[in-house]
Amino acid sequence: MFTLHGTGVGFGIAIGAARLIRRPDQEVLEYSILPEQVGQEIQRLTDGIHSATECLSTYYEDLREESTDEVHAILDAHLLMVQDPILLEQSALIIRERLVNAEFALQLHCENLQAVFRDIDDPYMRSKSDEISQVIGRIQDELLGQHAGQSSLEGIREGEIVVTHDLMPADTIEYKKYRVGAFLTNLGGPISHTAILARSMQIPAIVGLHEGIRYLKTGDTLIIDGKRGVVLVEPDDAALDVYEKRAAKIKRVTRELEVIKYKPATTLDGQTVELNANIEFAEELKQSLECNASGIGLYRTESLYMNRRDFPDEAEQFDVYSTLLNSTERPVTIRTLDLGADKQVDGGRRNMSLATNPALGRRAIRLCLHDLTLFKPQLRALYRASIYGDLRIMVPMISSQDELDQLFIVLDEIRDELTRENLPFKPHIPVGGMIEVPAAAVTADMFAKRLDFLSIGTNDLIQYTLAIDRIDDEVNYLYDPLHPAVLRLVKSVIDAAQNAGIPVSMCGEMAGDIECTRILLALGLREFSMDSTVISEVKQRVRGTRIGEMEPIVRDLLTTNESDRYRDLIQLING
Ligand code: PEP
Ligand code: MG
Repeated sequence: MFTLHGTGVGFGIAIGAARLIRRPDQEVLEYSILPEQVGQEIQRLTDGIHSATECLSTYYEDLREESTDEVHAILDAHLLMVQDPILLEQSALIIRERLVNAEFALQLHCENLQAVFRDIDDPYMRSKSDEISQVIGRIQDELLGQHAGQSSLEGIREGEIVVTHDLMPADTIEYKKYRVGAFLTNLGGPISHTAILARSMQIPAIVGLHEGIRYLKTGDTLIIDGKRGVVLVEPDDAALDVYEKRAAKIKRVTRELEVIKYKPATTLDGQTVELNANIEFAEELKQSLECNASGIGLYRTESLYMNRRDFPDEAEQFDVYSTLLNSTERPVTIRTLDLGADKQVDGGRRNMSLATNPALGRRAIRLCLHDLTLFKPQLRALYRASIYGDLRIMVPMISSQDELDQLFIVLDEIRDELTRENLPFKPHIPVGGMIEVPAAAVTADMFAKRLDFLSIGTNDLIQYTLAIDRIDDEVNYLYDPLHPAVLRLVKSVIDAAQNAGIPVSMCGEMAGDIECTRILLALGLREFSMDSTVISEVKQRVRGTRIGEMEPIVRDLLTTNESDRYRDLIQLING
């Protein structure tokens, strides 16, 4: 048994078998090894080649019956290639000379061979270069514990623990269907979209394992402690026993929280707050209502655009939004498209090349205002769907008054178009803005005068305020919602909204973090939006808080410059 450490996100404990996934386009990582590890690494390489040979032989035996002579020749050639002693010799030499891992040595050997083949004039011989990379790819898959011929999701079983270098939000959506037990990734931070999705799936995840996953292979038994960020690999009976008991306790506590589901979210001094749900998919409305969310405070519509080659048109979006609104009388805040940065799509319609620094690039409202053919169908669909329920439209990433000017012009155009076309819509839908750029937080009073509501997006606000990439595991230890700069910005947004007499909510992950609940209440926040799985926990904290007692402590917190005192005050608040 050994342990790996990363950043724990998501929910509770999972015990299950590892399933290593290497995406076809994923680069093979390079790791340094010590001179004394060379022998062991060459043995890994030899074992990898051996299992690839066995696997290919079985696979080809099965195919042999039904295939032609030409196919036989290709299969034989592949088997010869994988068994070629030069492949082992050259890769072992690279391991010895460059002190690198076996997968990477194979990669370098493959690139050397491909360079030779590329220079050959004969097109037939040149085409062999692809076959080399296929054969070497199979050995690399074996080294990573993933069997030849298997697509990344093929054969994945319920409860298995997905172990991979990185997950795009689009991948995570796919895994949702497979009811996997947990995620482990080398990259990512606590508020990366993988983390947010893992929480919404109520499964644990550990991100930011750095190079940790290289020590795992498919089939290893793993215990995932999502709270502490610890992975126990091949645990002994004693560890299994402890964690099985812990998992049972978490289930019990979760059941106990059920009891307060239908109790009001009212503080000890009688202030009632709204606890809304964040959703990624319209189908999550059901779960949110089961958790008794006051409404939907954030529907991230990006999922509609992911894992497809085209973008959804107005009709498709109208269908989704109107069905959603029709299914509840509670308020539903739908956020317009927030593509870009960490939320890339693979839809082929537009050439959305990666900016040098995507988080600071043309994302969210910037992208939408730049490309009205992308934005208008969504807005038309939203306006048309508005007659089916209590809709609020929310715009992400606004940072200047010019953007608001442009937004209002587009909204006027949409209303004019729909009127001309005799299509029904509600003329006065509340339109709000997400405050997630420090510039918008500092000038929140200006936004508050022109918008119907504000919602604080702390995931991005913290990223931009503290200059910490939210998906970079190397700096996520600095990601701190309780940093005084963040708290001061949050306070100024709440004050601005209150002065303008408009509602203000918070929909970043901070809203669902019980370590922050009392502080936010003392700062004046009365509307929270979070993953529905944490609503009961936050409600329990709200019900145990006397805001009047918290206010002087939080005032102190915002002004102290002594870090020890700061920590003591936080402890006192959450005590
Ligand atoms: C945020 O930035 O806080 C937010 C809610 O938006 P997202 O996490 O989708 O960027
Ligand atoms: Mg955001």
